[in-house]
Amino acid sequence: MTAVIILSLLFCFVVSVIRCNSISSLLQPPYLTDEDFERGKVLPIEAYRLNGTGFHEQLPSRAITRANVWLAPTYKWPNARVPYVISPLYNNQERAIIAESIREWESNTCIRFVPATSNDRDYIELTPNDGTDNFCYSYVGRQGGRQFVKMYAPICMSVGQYVHELGHAIGFGHEHQRPDRDYYVEIKWENIDPSFYYAYDKYNAKDFTTLGMPYDYYSIMHYPDYSYSSNGKPAFVPKYPGHQDSIELETDV
Ligand SMILES: [Zn+2]
Repeated sequence: MTAVIILSLLFCFVVSVIRCNSISSLLQPPYLTDEDFERGKVLPIEAYRLNGTGFHEQLPSRAITRANVWLAPTYKWPNARVPYVISPLYNNQERAIIAESIREWESNTCIRFVPATSNDRDYIELTPNDGTDNFCYSYVGRQGGRQFVKMYAPICMSVGQYVHELGHAIGFGHEHQRPDRDYYVEIKWENIDPSFYYAYDKYNAKDFTTLGMPYDYYSIMHYPDYSYSSNGKPAFVPKYPGHQDSIELETDV
């Protein structure tokens, strides 16, 4: 199967910011430290928010437990272990955001992000710059070899956005692209920038499974409703608005 690159909502702004990194940030180790995780625990609320409005306004800790659309098992990480290295280009604040995003996944799932060792053939590289562009993206699931989780700073740097991209790296696809999504949302193609139609394509049921879980409007893997809108109108509307509330109540228990 062709590697799936998910270009995240709202993240695909081409910007030309020359980042200035202090000498100390360039001396950071290629893995997160205890200090990074401690700083992550005291981030201001602004560091959690995604850009834009919509379903992603939900707190990550509630939403990520319901990322439901899973890529084929071939792309799983063995033993739920995801080796990583982190670019020295991130500053301390950005490292804290990444650490907190990892903590969100680890505190809600059995997934563990571990510093890559010389024995790890497959690993993710968390970087603001892969030498190509200023996009923010992750491949979905384990691809084999080194794979980037590209999160350009500062555009992509919030816990919500990082949790979303790490979800892709783990193996989760977009909720609104699941094979049965037409029962739950109506895509408003006329409101979407045609160059981003691909972000609303339905997944093939042979490649993705919904794990038998109900559709989740509040998943961290669901786009906000104005993502890639070309005219200021929503890109999709829920077919069962009342259903959102019932799902929300269930998961709050
Ligand atoms: Zn995405």
